[in-house]
This record gives sequence, structure tokens and C-alpha cells, in this order.
Amino acid sequence: MPDPAPISLTSPLASIKGIGQRTADQLAALGLTNVGKLIAHIPLRHERHEAEANVRELLPGQIVSTRGEIVATRPTGSGRRARFEAVLMDPTGRLDLVWFNAPYMRDKVIPGMRVRVHGKAKSFGYGLQLTNPKLEPLRPEHAEPDRKDARIRPVYPASEEIDSPRIERAIDAVLSDALPQLEDHLPAEYRAARDLPELRDAYRMLHRPESMDEAARAVRRLAYDELLMLQVSVALKRAELRTRLRAPALPWSEKLDSHIRARFPFTLTDAQDEVIKEITADLSSPVPSNRLIQGDVGSGKTVVALYAMLLAVADAHQAALMAPTELLAEQHFASISRMLTGSRVRVALLTASITGDAREDLLLALRQGRIDLLIGTHALLTDQVEFKSLAVAVIDEQHRFGVHQRAALRSKGATSQGGPANVTPHVLVMTATPIPRTLAITIFGDLDVSTIRALPAGRKPIRSRVVQSPQRDEVYAFVDKRLEKGQQAYVVVPAIDAGEDASGADIRGVTDVLEQLTKGPLKSRRVEAVHGRLSQRERERIMQSFRDAKVDVLVATTVIEVGVDVPNAAMMVIEQADRFGLSQLHQLRGRVGRGAHESVCILIADPTTEEARARLAAIAATTDGFALAEKDFELRGMGELFGSRQSGAPAFRVVDLVRDRDLLAMARRDAMDLVAHSPTLDRPEESLLKRRVLKAHGQGLALGDVG
Ligand code: ADP
Ligand code: MG
Repeated sequence: MPDPAPISLTSPLASIKGIGQRTADQLAALGLTNVGKLIAHIPLRHERHEAEANVRELLPGQIVSTRGEIVATRPTGSGRRARFEAVLMDPTGRLDLVWFNAPYMRDKVIPGMRVRVHGKAKSFGYGLQLTNPKLEPLRPEHAEPDRKDARIRPVYPASEEIDSPRIERAIDAVLSDALPQLEDHLPAEYRAARDLPELRDAYRMLHRPESMDEAARAVRRLAYDELLMLQVSVALKRAELRTRLRAPALPWSEKLDSHIRARFPFTLTDAQDEVIKEITADLSSPVPSNRLIQGDVGSGKTVVALYAMLLAVADAHQAALMAPTELLAEQHFASISRMLTGSRVRVALLTASITGDAREDLLLALRQGRIDLLIGTHALLTDQVEFKSLAVAVIDEQHRFGVHQRAALRSKGATSQGGPANVTPHVLVMTATPIPRTLAITIFGDLDVSTIRALPAGRKPIRSRVVQSPQRDEVYAFVDKRLEKGQQAYVVVPAIDAGEDASGADIRGVTDVLEQLTKGPLKSRRVEAVHGRLSQRERERIMQSFRDAKVDVLVATTVIEVGVDVPNAAMMVIEQADRFGLSQLHQLRGRVGRGAHESVCILIADPTTEEARARLAAIAATTDGFALAEKDFELRGMGELFGSRQSGAPAFRVVDLVRDRDLLAMARRDAMDLVAHSPTLDRPEESLLKRRVLKAHGQGLALGDVG
């Protein structure tokens, strides 16, 4: 017989001795189709397994491992008490096994099979019992020696068809042949300086750690790589943006400055001035800028953006402002139009509800440069929207958009007819969901960050209280008393229609809360409802009456979460507040505290989980959006915070941003240094790193992002 072909990283798994076709198929279903992919399968965690002992040696109260033959099984009990029992024998004695709520064990545990079990032993009658033990069949063809030493075992992401121990065996079958073929993309001194193991050692320690420390070292190395690749890709793209593309350089003068400021009905705060200084420095240069303006709710980001847009208009270019909802776009349009009344600036609004001739006229005017400042929603991104010369693009509430949308808006600079293809606008993105630093540099690593650190003077702090639903009557009696004095209130409800969630718990809806309030505690008040199902016109009509104080109470869904600005509304009641995320609660609360009245936010909640209790405690304890964002991040992690993948949060294989914050800072510094010294990574010692960066991120979000 010829020698089997040597194992390479691209060898298909079915060709490997020790991995059969069936196993190969099951691994393929997990995306593990060749040797390289198999060894890059990252364990979820590592577990310490005790040395195996004979049944007679086991002691109650200890975590134990042993092996033997299943001699009997039976399902017993019913309903909630259903369980599955088995008896294991080895030459020294008998061990009882029991699983609760695990009907599937019946197919997995069959008399006559040899197994290894792992779990906590407790006394049971005269003998010992393991409850819900881990069980691993021992196949005769894999006569494994029993483990005399404690060891660390990886726990892999698995499937119904193939469990972690079998994945472990498959990795075993290839690991020693695969490791020597792994090439490290980091030079030895570089690794040494950062205390990172060599790549092949890292993979050995990942799959076959001799200690928990080794497992942690392996994870650290691989997490570093993942972060480094992302940060390098961001740095490369940024370098490219800065060298290849050009933005209009917008001149600044004191005269222009005072012209613009004269339009604002208030004096800018020092915090706003500082950020404006940073922005004007960016804008006066032909290097396309990409700046994130973060500032807490109500810190006054809109005028800062308007300042930048007016610099574009003053130099005969155009500017665009994109908002995540029609409501917010309309509100920006109204307030900006108000500030610009009597000026020569031509402002227009474009949303999906503007259609037909009106839309055609608007698009034509935009192409011909007869519109200076365009405000709108996602509608701005459609292909028909072409600018004559877009110099400043602003995205409000950036976290509501995906990275693709930022790139799409940026590309509007080059679509103007006749213009050179390498022209792009300056981009400003604003967020009132302060982003924890960790995330800001991961997701927005390509952005410069400006922070508006203080609210306009004269704002009274918002008092927040969490109460339980039996106090609802008191809450509305209190609200009613203040309405009497001419104040206004928001009532926020989780849904439009009442219903049930997946677990059968009641969800309150705008329509029934409206009815309840108008029949009960607020019957002498003018109460209206707004939500996403109303037509734009209807919503706008109601908002306008609320602004004009013709409506006392607005019952709403989270449509009012961003941007809504009615200074006389100094009260907010949030129904079922435990159903909202922390950042969302903070955003909602930001609707009050905008005027001279002392504001209150009352959160009605009957939290059922620890996490919900922690969230409510946090919101009651602080109004600092940055502190809350960090807390939210800790409580819920990144995925939840950003809602979905498409928001641009990268999906990591190894990295855990909460755990790996320090590593992220290091990878970011390293990536910046690398690219600063070698803007295209063309030095020979960088070629492998570059290849791997391009493979991981070449077409991915991080590179598409800033383009
Ligand atoms: P956000 O940062 O949440 O988008 P806005 O730009 O909507 O905040 O501003 C919140 C409110 O504060 C608005 O009513 C705005 O007119 C007002 N405002 C902004 N800047 C100032 C200032 N310097 N002095 C007083 N009021 C201001
Ligand atoms: Mg805003």
C-alpha cells in the first residue's frame, strides 16, 4: 500500500486516518471542512477534569470522573419530574446516574456501552449518584487509556450530531501533523516584547493545554491576532483614504464665524466651541475627515453639525444631514429652517414619504446645486440622489445606522457629474449613545473622536425614580398635579398594541395605556398618542400640538427616543421600564430636562431578572451617559448594545471585548505603528501579516467602512 498523503492544512477531513466520512460530514456542517479550519475551531472555554478513579474510590461531595459499562437504564417520573436513570458498573462497584429534563439521553445511553462520566458525586442510598453527569461514550476502536492525571479539556462549539469530545478526538487526529505547518506572521522579537507565544505553540496550548494558564496564554495570543488584524485593516484604509481621496478644503474666517454664530438663538458653550475648533481644523484641509462627535443627550450636537454644514455652504458647496427616523429628520428640518430664516441658504427635506413630482423637482434642484443643505433619512442614500458638490455629510445618531450607510453617504461626493472621481465629502457622525471607549476604537477605529463634555448651562438635573406597578396610581396622581401647573409629560410604553412576550408575560401597549389614562387618572387632561403606525402627517400634527402645549401628555413608543425636543415637557413616565435597554432608557430620559423646570423620570418596573434590576439601579443612580454606556456594555456585551451585526460591530471568534480591553489598546497601538512605518505593509517580513489581514477584512466591513 502506498503511504497515505501527508496531512496539510488544506487536506479534506475525510482523508484523515481516524476521521471517518460520517464524522467529516458532521464537522463540515459546522463549517470545518479541512485541517486548517478544524484546528482553528476555538473552544468556548476550558474545563478541569479530575483524574479518573475506580467507582469504589469515589467520595461524595467531589467532582469525579470514572468509567465503566452501562448495565441498565430506565426513564421514570412524568411531566416536570421526568428523569432518566442509568446504572454504571466497573470491576469495583456500582454508580447511579440520573438526568433530569433530558429525554434525549434515552437515545444516547444504551445498556452495554462503555462510557466515561464526569460530575459531582453525592450519597444515594448505600452508594453514590451523579446528577446530570457529562457522559462520553468510549468506543472499543479508540481504546483510550484512562486518565490517571487531572487534565484541562477544551469545550468546543458543537452540534446535535457531533459533541465536543468527538470534535476533540478529530482535532487530536490532525494536531501533531498540522502544528509544524503553521507559519507565524509575527516575528520572534515582536512576540517576545509582548509576551505572546508562537502561533504553533498557541494552537497546541489551545487544544491540549497542560494548565489553565496555558489555555489563557493561547487565547490571549489568538485574541491579539484577531484585534491586530482588525486594527491594521482600519489603519490601512485610513491611510488610503488620506492619500488617495480629496475633500473640498473649506476656508474659515472670523467674519464667517460670526456670521454663522449670529444664526444661533443662544451662545455656544465652551464644550461646543472646543469641538467646533476641531472640526474647522479638519474641514480646512483637503484630507477627507471622518469624525465622531459624541455628546450626551441634549449636549447640543445639532448646532455643531450645522456650523460645519454652513462652512460648506459658505464656500458654495452642499451639505447633507441624515437622521435615522422621519420624525427626527422633520424636526431637524424645522429647527434648522427656523434658524436660517431670512438667510440665503436653501434647505430641503427628503424622506421616503416625499414622492412623485415633488421628489423629482427636489432631485433635479439638488443636482443643479439649487439646494444647499439637504436633510433627510435613509432616502438620501438612494442612487437617484446626486449632489452637485457635497462637501460635508453628517450622520445623526450614527449607532442607528450601519457602517455601509456611512460609506454610501461618503460616496455621494464622487457621484456628482463631471467632478473628479476621487472627491469625497468630510464626514461627521454624531451619537448620543456615548460609546464606551473600548467600542469606539474597535468599531470606529477609523474615526477621530470629539466629545462635547458638558450640557448647556442652566439645565436642571433630572431626578429618576424606580417604582413598582402597585404605585402606578400614585405616580399618575403626581403627574396630574404637575400638569395642573402647566407642565407637560411623556408616557413611554413598550409596544403599540398590548400583547404577550414569548414567555407569556403581558406587554403594555400605547393604545390601551392611552385609554386607561384618559378614562382614569388623567381624564381632565388632553392626552394624545404617537407611534410608528401613524402617518407622518398625523404624527407631525400631534407633535406640533404637543410642542405648542395644546396637548398635555404624549403617550408614545420609543419613536420619541431620539431628537424630540420640547423644553416644557419636564416629566416622563416609562411603563414596564425593565423591557428597555439601558442606553434606550437613557435616550428616552433625555427627552426631559431640556427646559427650566426641574425634571423627573419615573420608571415603573417589576423586574424579574438580576440583570434587569441592575439596569434599573444604574439608570436611577446616574445621568452620566458615558458611565451608563460602560455599564450597559458590561451587563449585556456588545451584540445587544448595538442591536445587530449590521450596525457594524465586528463579530469576533476569540476576542471578548470586556475581557480583552487592554489587549485591544495594545493591538491598536501596534497597528498604528506598523502602518505609520509602512503604509502599505510591503516590507517582506510583513507579507504574511498583510495576506492574513486582507483575507480577514479585505472585503469585509472594516475595509468597506471608510471608503
Ligand atoms: P443633542 O446633542 O441631544 O442632539 P440638541 O442639538 O438637540 O442636542 O440640543 C438640545 C437642546 O439644547 C436644543 O433645544 C438646542 O436648541 C439647545 N441648545 C444647544 N446648544 C445650546 C446652547 N449653547 N445654549 C442653550 N441651548 C442650547
Ligand atoms: Mg440630536
